[in-house]
Amino acid sequence: MTRSTTVVVGASVAGVRVAQTLRRRGHDGPVILLEREPGNPYDKPALSKTVLVQDELPSALGTATELAEENIDFRAGTAVDGLDLVARQILIHGEEPVPFAQLVITTGSRPRRLSQFDGLRGVHYLRTRTDAAALRAAFIRGGRVVVIGGGFIGGEVAASARSLGLPVTIVEAAPRLLARLMPTEVSEAVAGLHRDHGVKVICGRTVTGYRGGSDIEAIELDDGTVLPAEIVVIGIGTVPDTAWLEGSGLRIDNGILCGPNLAAEATDGVFVAGDVARWHDPTTGFYDRAEHWTSARDQAAVVAHNLIADGPPKHFATDGYVWSDQFGVSIQHVGRTGPGLRTERRPTKVGRGQLFVHLSGGHVVGATTFDAPSDLLAVRRDLASR
Ligand SMILES: Cc1cc2nc3c(=O)[nH]c(=O)nc-3n(C[C@H](O)[C@H](O)[C@H](O)COP(=O)(O)OP(=O)(O)OC[C@H]3O[C@@H](n4cnc5c(N)ncnc54)[C@H](O)[C@@H]3O)c2cc1C
Repeated sequence: MTRSTTVVVGASVAGVRVAQTLRRRGHDGPVILLEREPGNPYDKPALSKTVLVQDELPSALGTATELAEENIDFRAGTAVDGLDLVARQILIHGEEPVPFAQLVITTGSRPRRLSQFDGLRGVHYLRTRTDAAALRAAFIRGGRVVVIGGGFIGGEVAASARSLGLPVTIVEAAPRLLARLMPTEVSEAVAGLHRDHGVKVICGRTVTGYRGGSDIEAIELDDGTVLPAEIVVIGIGTVPDTAWLEGSGLRIDNGILCGPNLAAEATDGVFVAGDVARWHDPTTGFYDRAEHWTSARDQAAVVAHNLIADGPPKHFATDGYVWSDQFGVSIQHVGRTGPGLRTERRPTKVGRGQLFVHLSGGHVVGATTFDAPSDLLAVRRDLASR
C-alpha cells in the first residue's frame, strides 16, 4: 500500500466516475473502490421507469472486468462500517482495515422510512435494483397501488404502475405535488398529466395508519379516507447514508459538510460527492445538498480534479438541471425556483410541449419543460452565458 492510495466508498454514479476520471486523467496511484452491494455498479434513474415497465436491467456503470482493465481495485459486496481519520483507514467488519492517503465518500442516500410499515408485506421502498425487482414482481402479480409521496420518484412509480394497467392513487401530505421543488404551475401540470392517465391524486392529506395483518390491505388518511391497497410504495425523500460515519469526527448535518471544492470540512485529503455531499455555496452563503444524477456526476469530476491537484482547485457549481420521465413525457428543469419568483407559461418553439419560465425581477432564472427539450436547452445556454 503506497502513500498515494485513494479509497472511494460507494460505487454508484459519483464513486465510479471519480475512480474512472482519476485513471483517465493519468492518476497512477492505487485506486480502491468499495461497494456494499454485490454485482456490477449500475445507474439508478431507470429503476423507477423502464426497469419497472419493461423488465429491463438498469444500465451498468462498468463491469468488474472493465474496472479491472482501468486498474481500479473494485470490491463489490463490501459494506464499510467505520472511518478512523487519525489512523487514516477504512474499517470493515471482520476484515483488515484499508489504509488510505486520500478518501472519497460517495455513499449516496437511502429512502426515508415510515417505521409504522416496517415488516408489512406489500410495502415497498425503491432505491436498489433488488427493490426494483421486488416491485416489478408485485406489479406483475397485480393489485391496487397507493404511492405515498408526490415527488419525482413517487410520480415515476405511479406512472409505471399505471402504464401496466394497475389502479393507482398518489397521496401527498403537501397541498400539491412536487411542492418542495417546483412552483404551483408546474405542480398542477404534473398532477394534470397523472389525472389524464387515470391516476387518483390526493394532496394535503397525511397517512395516519393502515389496515391488514402481515399483508397490507389498506391505507388510512387523516380525514378518515380508507384506500384499499395490495401494493404500497413509500417515496417520501431520502436521507444521506452517513450512519457508518458516526463518531468519525466528520461534520455531518443532513449530509457531510464540505467546502465549495467538496473537501470535507476540518479534514485533510477527504472529499465528498453525490447525494451524500452538503456543500457550502459561496453564491448563496448556504449549504446545499442535491439528490440528482447530474449533480452527482458533475461533483465527481470536481473531486477527481481536486484530488489530482494539477491546476487551481475547482469549485462545484450547478445550474440545477434535473429530469424525470412520466407517461412518456420528458420533464426537464434548469435553474432556480422558490419563494419570490414568478412563473409564466410561454409558447414553445416547436411541437406540443409546455414551457414554464421562472422569473426574478423580470429576468428568466429558470425553466421547466414538458416534452420541449430545445426550449429547455435555450434557457440552459442563456443561463450559462450569464
Ligand atoms: C429510483 C430512482 C430514480 C431516479 N431518477 C432520477 C432521474 O430521473 N433524474 C435524476 O436526476 N436523478 C434521479 N435519481 C437520483 C439519482 O439516481 C441519484 O442522485 C444518484 O444515484 C446519486 O448518486 P450517488 O453516487 O451520490 O449515490 P447512490 O446512487 O445513492 O449510490 C451510493 C452507493 O454507495 C453504496 N454505499 C452506501 N453506504 C455504503 C457503505 N457503508 N459501504 C459501502 N458502500 C456503501 C450504496 O450501496 C450505493 O451503491 C433517481 C434515484 C432513484 C433511486
